[in-house]
Amino acid sequence: MRAIIYCRVSSDPTGRGRSVSEQEAECRAVCEREGWEISEVLTDNDIGASRFSGKDRPAWRRLHDTLGAGDVLVTWVASRAQRDLEAYVQLRNLCADRGVLWSYSGRTYDLNRGDDRFTTGLDALLSEREAENIREHVLRAARASALAGRPHGKIPYGYRAVRDPETGRIVERIPDGAGSLIVQEAARRILAGETLHAITRDFRERGTPPPPGAQTWRPQMIKRMVLRPTYAGIRVHQGAPVGKGKWEPLITPEDQEKLTAILTDPTRVTHRGVAPRHLLTGIALCGVCGEQSGSTMRRINRKGHEAYHCNENGCVTRKMKPLDEYVTAAVIGRLEEPSLIGTIGATGTEAADLYAQARVLQARLDSFIKDGIEGLVSSAVVGQAEKTLVPQIEELEVRARRAASSPIVGEMAGPQAEARWYEASIEHRREVVRTLVKVEILPVRGTRRVFNPEDVRLTWQK
Ligand SMILES: [Zn+2]
Repeated sequence: MRAIIYCRVSSDPTGRGRSVSEQEAECRAVCEREGWEISEVLTDNDIGASRFSGKDRPAWRRLHDTLGAGDVLVTWVASRAQRDLEAYVQLRNLCADRGVLWSYSGRTYDLNRGDDRFTTGLDALLSEREAENIREHVLRAARASALAGRPHGKIPYGYRAVRDPETGRIVERIPDGAGSLIVQEAARRILAGETLHAITRDFRERGTPPPPGAQTWRPQMIKRMVLRPTYAGIRVHQGAPVGKGKWEPLITPEDQEKLTAILTDPTRVTHRGVAPRHLLTGIALCGVCGEQSGSTMRRINRKGHEAYHCNENGCVTRKMKPLDEYVTAAVIGRLEEPSLIGTIGATGTEAADLYAQARVLQARLDSFIKDGIEGLVSSAVVGQAEKTLVPQIEELEVRARRAASSPIVGEMAGPQAEARWYEASIEHRREVVRTLVKVEILPVRGTRRVFNPEDVRLTWQK
């Protein structure tokens, strides 16, 4: 099948858009996967141009000339190509009239089919709304910081205050659209098994505004956020829970319990409160008692040198620097192996993107359900949205998990692994080690004082 790729650059106040080269790369990857032959790549620059007028958009005109029956039009995710409903309707009609399939977000639609018209229409409606929500939130955040310094009560992120019009005192707090959805999204994604890092990265890439007072999103911030009792509707006084609040919870108490279990699990070292500073503490196993006790290495200072030491029984000790160097070299070698890339995913960011797409669909579904609850749309529409979106979300999540056991490994693997390793934070390096290899520190044989790789056992994960 002949594929025509169509990309658009537009001014993007939400900061969620992709550059044209990124859009193009993703579209090309789709074509390659589907076995489509790319006949043309068309790009329009919308910045400063009047919307879809055609006048300023040579590629859009070219699209009309070139699209023919049996072709497939490939664009980047809906929220991009379908900036507004008007644009969507024009694209949809063009595809339907020409008998052209339309592919975005990893799916291909036939606009002459009712189901596909419904799904794409839903995408367009919701992406427009999503853009509005984010824009509103940006404005609100700007206004809030302008008012900083004035007393306004301590309302947690994700809520807003309802004030008594006479006294100006806060009488109630209610969920605030964008912020509350972010809190819920973070909780849901952690429950689904995503790492704090993956979510942080996604929030940053999407340009999701961080809570007031913060410069940017950080993994620990997200952890603290989802574990705040107030989001489960629990009142806290001087650090201790004192009862049930009157406000609407954003996370159920049951889910918050699960989140606590997940985020304080000692085997998930990246989620500990204090950021680890060493590559292998809590990761490398004692080669003597580790099988029975599960004992890992802790850091000790030995004659002025940092060393790893069996935490439970003190069976083995190893100088830190040469061991770190040895494991680092081995892991980088592994990351550079083409066979690893094959198992991790075709492109480094594939898994993260798939998760992001699943998240977008989930947010859409949620807003439909919310509208259904508020009576803005009929339950039949909500049911239809669920029927259409849930299988798509599930499929994306399955693909994401298949694409990478760890999104960070997926991102680091490849021919440039060494450079990326040295740019990465210690938390990311640790996650990569933990995902890829079991490190066991064996007792030193003989009396050699020099580090000997034979006294370490590396077992690569399949
Ligand atoms: Zn031991």
